[in-house]
Amino acid sequence: MKYVVGGTSIQYPNDTAKGRYWSANTEWLEKTVSFEKKGKSLLLSFTDAIDAAIDSTLSKLEGGYQIDAFLWHQGESDDRYAGKYYDNLKAVIAYVRNHLTEKTGKDYSKLPFVFGSIPESNRHYKPEIDAAMKRIANEDPNAYLIDMSAQELQKDRTHFNEKSAEYLGKKVYKTLDKILILNGSGFRVARYKDDKACAISFTFDDGLAEHYSLVAPAMEKLGFRGTFWVNGRTIADTTYQRGFARMTWSQMKKMADKGHEISSHGWAHRNVTKLSPEELHHELEHNDTVIFQNTGVFPRTFCYPGNAKNNETIAFAEKNRIGTRTLQFSVGGKSTRENLDRRLADLLGNKGWGVTMTHGITYGYDHFSDAGIFWEYLKKVKTLEDRIWVGTFREVAAYVKEQKAVTCDVAKTDKGFSVVPRLALDKNLFTEPLTAVIGRKGIKKVAVRQGKKKLKVRILQDKALFDFDPFGGKIDVEVINK
Ligand SMILES: [Zn+2]
Repeated sequence: MKYVVGGTSIQYPNDTAKGRYWSANTEWLEKTVSFEKKGKSLLLSFTDAIDAAIDSTLSKLEGGYQIDAFLWHQGESDDRYAGKYYDNLKAVIAYVRNHLTEKTGKDYSKLPFVFGSIPESNRHYKPEIDAAMKRIANEDPNAYLIDMSAQELQKDRTHFNEKSAEYLGKKVYKTLDKILILNGSGFRVARYKDDKACAISFTFDDGLAEHYSLVAPAMEKLGFRGTFWVNGRTIADTTYQRGFARMTWSQMKKMADKGHEISSHGWAHRNVTKLSPEELHHELEHNDTVIFQNTGVFPRTFCYPGNAKNNETIAFAEKNRIGTRTLQFSVGGKSTRENLDRRLADLLGNKGWGVTMTHGITYGYDHFSDAGIFWEYLKKVKTLEDRIWVGTFREVAAYVKEQKAVTCDVAKTDKGFSVVPRLALDKNLFTEPLTAVIGRKGIKKVAVRQGKKKLKVRILQDKALFDFDPFGGKIDVEVINK
C-alpha cells in the first residue's frame, strides 16, 4: 500500500484556501473529504486507499491478511508549524491505528510506525521538528525513527540523492526485518531485557529522607533498584526543604554504591520552560556536577521539576543523556490497591514501559494515605517478575533506545548463523547489554561467541536467550537441535 505526495504539511494553514494536508484534526476532517473526491485531506485519501485495497483484494485472500507496519517520511513542509508538529504527527499515527482497528475489527492500536528524520542540510530543516520526532520515538514503544540527519541531499537541498535514498531504504528494510523477523533464523533482539513482556522503573522525586530509610531497603529486599531524582540545592540548604527532611549525600552515596540511580531533578527545582538559556544550562549542569562529586556517578538522565517541559527543553535536556522522564504515572496519595492492579494489567497488555512517580511515603507531597498500599504493590510486582523487568530509569531508557536503534545482519553458517549488530549511538553512554532471542522449540544446545568471548545461554522451552554487547562485533551462534 502506498500513498506518496511531495511537499505537503500535516498542519492545514489558515491563511490560504488552496492545497491538501495530512491533518487528523477531527473538526477539519468533518468539513472535508479526500483529495480524490475534490477535498483537501490526504489522510482521508490514504485511509480510502487502504480501505479500497482491503475491500477489493486483501479481504478476499484465502490465507487472510495482516497489516504489519506504517511507513512515513515527511516533515520539512511543516517548518512553519514546527511547534505543532509533535501533536500533529501523534494525531496522524493515532488516526491511522484507530481507523484500521475500526475497519478490520482487529487490534491495530500497536501498529508499528517507521519514520525517517529530515537531514540537517535540508533548506526547511527545523530542530523543533527533529525534537518532536525524537520525542515520539521515545514515548511510543511501537515507533521507530531512522536518523537521516547527516544524510546528503541533491543540489536543491530538498531531495535525497541516490546514496541517501538507498540508505533510507535499507534502514527501513532492516527495521521491518527486526519488527517482523523476516530472516528465518528465529533470531530477534528482545524488546526488554530477558525477553520480558514489559518494564517498570520505580522513580522517586525530591530526595525525601525516607527514600533512604524506607524505600531503598524495601526495594533491595526484593532485588529491585530505584531511581531517585534530587535537587542539589535542597540537599545542601535546609531553608529550601519546606520542613520535609531530605536525604544526605552520604546516604545517597551508599544507595548509588548498591546500584540505585541517583539522578537529576534540576539544581533548584525550577520550571525549566521559564528559564533563559543560561539559567537552564546552570540548572542542569550544576546539579549534574554536584551529584557526581557526592555520589561518584555522573547522572545521565533527568526529571523535569513539576513535569513542566516543552519540545525545546526536552531537546536541550536530552543532549548527552540517555533519556529524560517525559511520561510517568503517579503512585501516591490517590493510589488504591485496585487502580494499581489495573495499571499493572494494562502494562502487561500494552507491553509498555511504566515509569512510576512517587514523592512522599509517610510524609511530604502526595504521600500515601496508607503506606501499606505501596509496599504491597512492590511485592505484587515481584510475583510477576517473570514477565516484568524492574530496572532503573537509566537502564530501561538505555535498553529501549538501543533495542530500537540496533540493526543486525543475520547470515546462515555451516553450524548455525552469525549476527553482526550495528548501533549508531554513543557507546560511552549506551552500555546496557541487549538480550538476543532464538525463537525455536526443541533447542538442545547452543554455543555463542562474540569475538573471543563465550556468551552464557539460557535455554527455555520455546526459545534460547543470551545477552550481547551491541558494540561488540560479530556473534557466532551454533545450534544443536534435538
Ligand atoms: Zn519535584
